[in-house]
Amino acid sequence: MHEFAFAHNIFKIAEETAKKYNAKRISEVYLEVGELTLIVPELLKQSFKMATTGTIAEGAKLRIEMTPGKIKCNKCGKISTVSITEEAKLTGLQLFQCKHCGSKDTEIIEGKSANVKNIKIQE
Ligand SMILES: [Zn+2]
Repeated sequence: MHEFAFAHNIFKIAEETAKKYNAKRISEVYLEVGELTLIVPELLKQSFKMATTGTIAEGAKLRIEMTPGKIKCNKCGKISTVSITEEAKLTGLQLFQCKHCGSKDTEIIEGKSANVKNIKIQE
């Protein structure tokens, strides 16, 4: 469960941005979350609610867009889109096979991070 720590970080980023614009409230936060982070959107929303209680982001809507993972093959150099498997969810092990040549010699190039894309504020 890393959702709570994660929600707190999102709040910090949103708060900093809001301060720059002298905002009194944050009403929405747009987030892009890589699928390979293993973050569960519902849990993240709950955590965000808890993390923002009593702050300028209290009651703010969290909009989450999941982005697929991408791997690059070290053998053929091609890029494949990957989804998290049930097995990976349980073990945390993320080994992906190239969809082009079948090699397991791959590296994750996208999907392991999350970014605050935008926030909506009230001045
Ligand atoms: Zn390949």
